[in-house]
Amino acid sequence: MAVMVAIVVFAATLAVAAALLAGARSALIESLVDRQDLLLAQTARAIDRQLLLRQAALQELSANLLRVGGDVQRMAGLLKKFPVAQRQFDQFSVFDVTENSLVDFPQAEQADDSDRRAAVLQLAKEAASSGKNLIGLSLPAQERGQSWVILASPVRDGEGKVALVTAGLMDFSRLNLSERLEPFKAGARGYAYMSTPDGNLLAHTMPSRLLNTVLNRNDDRQVIIPVRNNKDVAEPAYVSTPELVATQRLQSSGWILTAVSSQAESLLPFDHAWSALPGLAFMAALVSGLLVWGWGPRFISRMRLNANNPAPLPPLAMANPSLHEEVSAVITESCLRAMEICQRQAQLDAINEASPLGVLCFDGQGNCNYANQAFERISGLAPDKAAGKGWRRCVHPDDRYALWKELPGSDAVEMASYTRICRLRHKNGGIIWVSVKAVTIIVDGKANGYVASLEDITAHRAGELALLKSEQRLRLITDNVPALIAYVTPDERVAFANRRYEEAYGILHEELCGMRTWEVLGPEVYTVSRPYIRQALSGTAANFERQVKQGNTVRHERVSYIPDIDPQGRVAGFFGMVDDITALKQIEAQLRNLIRFDSLTGIGNRAHFEERLIDAIRHSRRNGTLMAVMFLDIDYFKEINDTLGHQSGDEVLREFAQRLLRCVRETDTVARLAGDEFVIILEGLSNADEAPAVAGKIVSAMHQDFAVGGKERKVTASIGITVRQGDEEDAMLLLRRADEALYQAKSAGRNTYAMLT
Ligand code: GH3
Ligand code: MG
Repeated sequence: MAVMVAIVVFAATLAVAAALLAGARSALIESLVDRQDLLLAQTARAIDRQLLLRQAALQELSANLLRVGGDVQRMAGLLKKFPVAQRQFDQFSVFDVTENSLVDFPQAEQADDSDRRAAVLQLAKEAASSGKNLIGLSLPAQERGQSWVILASPVRDGEGKVALVTAGLMDFSRLNLSERLEPFKAGARGYAYMSTPDGNLLAHTMPSRLLNTVLNRNDDRQVIIPVRNNKDVAEPAYVSTPELVATQRLQSSGWILTAVSSQAESLLPFDHAWSALPGLAFMAALVSGLLVWGWGPRFISRMRLNANNPAPLPPLAMANPSLHEEVSAVITESCLRAMEICQRQAQLDAINEASPLGVLCFDGQGNCNYANQAFERISGLAPDKAAGKGWRRCVHPDDRYALWKELPGSDAVEMASYTRICRLRHKNGGIIWVSVKAVTIIVDGKANGYVASLEDITAHRAGELALLKSEQRLRLITDNVPALIAYVTPDERVAFANRRYEEAYGILHEELCGMRTWEVLGPEVYTVSRPYIRQALSGTAANFERQVKQGNTVRHERVSYIPDIDPQGRVAGFFGMVDDITALKQIEAQLRNLIRFDSLTGIGNRAHFEERLIDAIRHSRRNGTLMAVMFLDIDYFKEINDTLGHQSGDEVLREFAQRLLRCVRETDTVARLAGDEFVIILEGLSNADEAPAVAGKIVSAMHQDFAVGGKERKVTASIGITVRQGDEEDAMLLLRRADEALYQAKSAGRNTYAMLT
């Protein structure tokens, strides 16, 4: 009896516990795979979004490129006008389909550029021949090289033919893969990696593996992996091997994300329980057999005795309390696992509701059968209103058809997905920009509907548009300010320049941005400006004036460099404000002439004479040369005024000045002191006799009659001369002596000269 009971108990315990454990185990595996796949899908979507946004920016830019035809300079200018696209890429290249040539913006500088260029060229050619947007890679030939993501977008001309291909390059590290794959490093053996469809490892949570694969490649040249719509990788694919493997193919580039976690590690408690199961069942059978053997007959007879008088049963005494605990521990753990699975399901539902992404599920006919709260939040459409075909109401009419047309067909036999950006109309009337990703649900090899996720990107777009608007506003203002305004980066590149530069420096406005300052200014102007540029870049404002030669004219510029200091106190660049002060300079020169020159005769005035006399004395002293001062006064000038009029007197003064100029050397100075009084400074005389010789020349120069007011008139002058003696340096003394000599000449009967030493 006891043996039979023991056998039955053994078999039953074993069967029940095994069934419970097996059920819980497979449910747990499923839940773990679900969780891993959800996480991986989110990661893939995040990377896709990065690439698709860039692709959209590149397409927008490409559409604008045709406007400038094939002009490389203007293209460069245009590329610089897209600050948003510029921030997203490190470099642009434009491939000319007809010329079969590639131009980089900015021009290639690094040593490995030739490889990168070859990669861009190859992808551009593929994009040109296929007419499709492609995403490819340029991988480094050496261990420490840099990887690049290349996005190529064909540009079609008016006839729909591919005329150009634009390519945007971004540093591969900007995809932030190491951070994105971090959550997959679960346990001691969990890891994740990204690879290309043909097996090149691009990122791995264990970098040592990545390095090995790259180094062990046979092919040491650049590798390009263009996008193909190959369906060679199921999406997602689970493999229930001892490792839990989930894969996701990136919609944008075809790269494959794989996450692997150790099944053994995840199921450790189950497998412990599993191995203890036969032992535990045997112990349970033994205990029950013993119980029946020891207590069975008494128990049976008591049952018979008490058949009509049932009495409470004494509690069963466990022969081995620790065994009891072990059995109940196994059963409790199984129950806990089952609860955990339910919990995980609830967790998945909660994630769905808590997700910032709107989620919609459709049947094959496009009828919505599920919408989460985030969808209602984004679109303003309640889930019950979205049901059936109701969801279409919130899609912008202009996007409705395209959205529906591009959904994967209901005849799809494998999972397909697509992503696009479109507009929703919120019930409050606002326009919401969303990035939509739709994925086919495949059940038993047949399409069974779709799941679509929506991300609200309105704020992101609005931010970019606002930036664009504010840049346009700034440009409008600065283009109309009558000054040159520019912003220069620490590497002396022009990051911004207003349109005034075009006429001032003869450089097309489109070309200016990105040029180096020395290219814009030219060598001469740059040499003058360079110390001030350095000063501004070291954080101190600089102000100076410079001259810019343009053909035969000279432009005067007043320049202010104002450093741009960021919140960390570093110089981020400087602003350049340049005023054209040529007109001001001309007026200034005129004013200076007015002060120093006699307006009637055009020769120097007293101020000019005094200045020159001091210079001449200094010069004479330094060089030991001789100099002389002459004081001249027209004879009987009052009479000329009185008889012929004041104007005729003026004419005489002008003619007199001209004749004086003809009698002296260019280096000598002729000035009018006042009225009919003139002075001359003779410099560099070889001996003192030269001065009276010049005076004689002047006297004879006046012999010829003056034509005054239509009449001939004799005009003579008297001249006093003095020669600087020894180390004399008193200018006024010299002038006084010349004046005395003049007095002597006048006294001697005029029309002559006298000399005092
Ligand atoms: P002298 O031989 O002694 O020099 O006799 P003078 O008549 O020339 O006498 P003086 O040199 O003193 O006369 C200068 C005159 O020049 C006096 C003044 O009326 C005249 N005068 C002064 N400034 C001007 C001027 O700008 N234009 C004209 N036309 N006459 C002037
Ligand atoms: Mg006189």
